[in-house]
Amino acid sequence: MRILVTNDDGIYSPGIAALAKVATQFGEVRVVAPDVEQSSMGHAITATRPLSYKKSPIKFEGIDAYRVNGTPADCVALGTHLWTKTDLVLSGINLGLNLGNSMWHSGTLAAAKQAALLGMRGIAFSTPVGKEEPDFDKLAPFVEESLRLLIDMKDLCLVNVNLPQEPAGIRWTRQSVRMYDGKIVPGMDPMGRKHYWFTVTPLEPAEEGTDRWAVENGFVSITPLRLDLTNEEELKKTQQNQSYANT
Ligand code: MN
Repeated sequence: MRILVTNDDGIYSPGIAALAKVATQFGEVRVVAPDVEQSSMGHAITATRPLSYKKSPIKFEGIDAYRVNGTPADCVALGTHLWTKTDLVLSGINLGLNLGNSMWHSGTLAAAKQAALLGMRGIAFSTPVGKEEPDFDKLAPFVEESLRLLIDMKDLCLVNVNLPQEPAGIRWTRQSVRMYDGKIVPGMDPMGRKHYWFTVTPLEPAEEGTDRWAVENGFVSITPLRLDLTNEEELKKTQQNQSYANT
């Protein structure tokens, strides 16, 4: 099996080295990742300038690694074009959780989505980051266990995995959807000019069974996702309203 590993923190992040190492247990691995951090870039693609693809001198213990001056989605599109017959795309391990509403902004998940858009399977991995770096040696067995579970489930084309710092087990979850307070906080730069920080504060506690609930309770959260955003209930309602449907 050919496994392409990417991320949104950039090729020099310790998270991608940890993920690539685990991936080697499951097949042939190649790393194709952004040359600089692309966190919160979502599913952006670079369509107005060319991309470069350079062999990275950074050692991934015998794994070929390439850096791209583009987004995570670019890395997947370009990486799988230049390495045909890729079976699986892994993204992460992101330094920062990608739960609930974060999925809309995440570059880590976007790489997995890009794989699904191209007809491959994509799995995103994320873990919280506090004052200290995550202990990837401690997380590795849980990444491995998650992959062992997911690799055989071929119907799961797109999966979001979030690992707490010290996992106590694995839970299947759904995305927590709740409003967040996307606050803009003003500040001042050293030159006295005004600038702004975009900050996100969750507004409601996590519901049981959701991704956020699982991670808050010490479990690895595995959420199966789909590309279709259609609101089925509302679609049914509007279709049942004949007078509306016939106009
Ligand atoms: Mn990131």
